[in-house]
Amino acid sequence: MDVKTYQYTGNQVLKYTNNSPDTLSRVFYHMYFNAFQPGSEMDMRLQSVSDPDDRMFSAGQSRIARLKENEQGYLRASSLTQDGSKLNYSLEGTVLEVELEKPIPPGGSAELVMDFEGQVPVQIRRSGRNSSEGIALSMSQWYPKMAAYDFEGWHADPYIAREFHGEWGDFDLKLTIDKDYIVGGTGYLQNANEIGHGYEDAGVTVAKQKGKTLTWHFKAPNVHDFMWAADPDYVHDTLQMEGGPTLHFFYKNDPQLKENWKNLQPKTQAAMEFFNRNIGLYPYEQYSVVQGGDGGMEYAMSTLITGERSFGSLVGVMVHELAHSWFQHLLATNEAKHAWMDEGFTSFVSSLCMNTIMEQNKDNPFENSYKGYYALVQSGKEQPQTTHSDRYDLNFAYGISAYSKGSIFLSQLGYIIGQDKLMSSLRKYFDKFKFKHPVPNDIKRIAEEESGMDLDWYLIDWTQTTNTIDYAVKAVEANGSSTKVHLERIGLMPMPLDILIVYKDDSRETFYTALRMMRGEKENPYPNIKRTVLPDWPWANQRYEFTLDRPLEEVKAIVVDPSLLMADVDASNNAWSSED
Ligand SMILES: [Zn+2]
Repeated sequence: MDVKTYQYTGNQVLKYTNNSPDTLSRVFYHMYFNAFQPGSEMDMRLQSVSDPDDRMFSAGQSRIARLKENEQGYLRASSLTQDGSKLNYSLEGTVLEVELEKPIPPGGSAELVMDFEGQVPVQIRRSGRNSSEGIALSMSQWYPKMAAYDFEGWHADPYIAREFHGEWGDFDLKLTIDKDYIVGGTGYLQNANEIGHGYEDAGVTVAKQKGKTLTWHFKAPNVHDFMWAADPDYVHDTLQMEGGPTLHFFYKNDPQLKENWKNLQPKTQAAMEFFNRNIGLYPYEQYSVVQGGDGGMEYAMSTLITGERSFGSLVGVMVHELAHSWFQHLLATNEAKHAWMDEGFTSFVSSLCMNTIMEQNKDNPFENSYKGYYALVQSGKEQPQTTHSDRYDLNFAYGISAYSKGSIFLSQLGYIIGQDKLMSSLRKYFDKFKFKHPVPNDIKRIAEEESGMDLDWYLIDWTQTTNTIDYAVKAVEANGSSTKVHLERIGLMPMPLDILIVYKDDSRETFYTALRMMRGEKENPYPNIKRTVLPDWPWANQRYEFTLDRPLEEVKAIVVDPSLLMADVDASNNAWSSED
């Protein structure tokens, strides 16, 4: 790595095994840095989308369009061989298309050796040089990365806007860089006592290095990504958690950052413990929180986050990116196709974690996700979650769909099957599908097994359509010494209902009507309140009625879903009050 010209050269030896049942005659590499060139698909999309990301757009123009040659990014192969034979390849934007000399049969393998050269772009999005906070090198998606091949075929998506997908492998990396630069990111440093910079074992004096550079040797087993960042002014702190992992922190040596970045360290430990307990054990020996990039982005064993934030915001972004380790990295759902299973599930567990470790104690920690989703529905710009992540008309619609509606997939699933069943489903899902790239049906099947319910209707309506939920208390009428309650389904999307009745003497009871096609019932979510399980509500029936044993004069209020976890798009008709 030349820290003056921002250019680098590399040699990659890739031992590729074809674990699929198909013979592969071609392979594809991602060459992500080519996105940062005028005229790239990323640039063109930036110029046509009506709500561009303001990190990538300034003074009414795409920042990529204005890059000078020495500011652009590139990544090119200069030679490529398969088991010693030269290969033909062509670079198409951010994807290198490669014809194999010898097809790789199922179970077969090949050694692909590539020489490559790159230039680090000015920081525009996620990675690059000289970030807005002055970090010299934020290096993610910097190397030729083999595309994923699975039962759906190749996933050689061009880099247009969204995030990354890849296969796990064992990385062995040697990085030669100016010796003043401190490097943090993915991977266990193998020559710590030679390098120093805060990596050396306690009590070791690191010998002064001759020459201008140091060669850092990292190993990272079973990761699908390798990020590193480097800056000559990093402070490097570590925190050894009992039983592992070791947490590393890299931030600018700036007195204004110090207090927040010191206080961040025990919160990172608390978050790691929270996710270990609630999702499953983090399997690596290391996690690094690194100041860099342009917001927050998750990588293998690490994250790049901007650091000049309030303490709450700093903890919030760390918690979100750390949570991605379970969903983006260990489960590794394909984000191009099912972003909601990554961003959404990450947002869900982040909200739970923040509520605990920051002692927020909110009744509904997901409230903002619901607000966002309702705003999207109102806007009329919603597209189904089955939309390819790059093909949303608006960034706004992608963001809400992936993060907020994706988070609600789980919080609302908790409403349907019960909170305990939701959390046990999440743990089982992680345990069964880590390192397997789960698809939407997998989380549904786990929740079905845990709850004994049929949930296909939920997966279909919530994720494959823009159908909305709207139930109403239509009328309440006296019926002698009892009271008749008339409910109505207005929205197309079906749901089971919890109904809370509050009497004027302040006593309470609840009623529950399961959806007939669920073929099951949840346990009473309010064990301290008497619950009556009503007959199932068949979806096609728009009306439903039931009777209270007490006269109308005694009824104070009737509320559909007092938990507010059911994403009913019109709250105005969800309650009846004697005072109305
Ligand atoms: Zn995220």
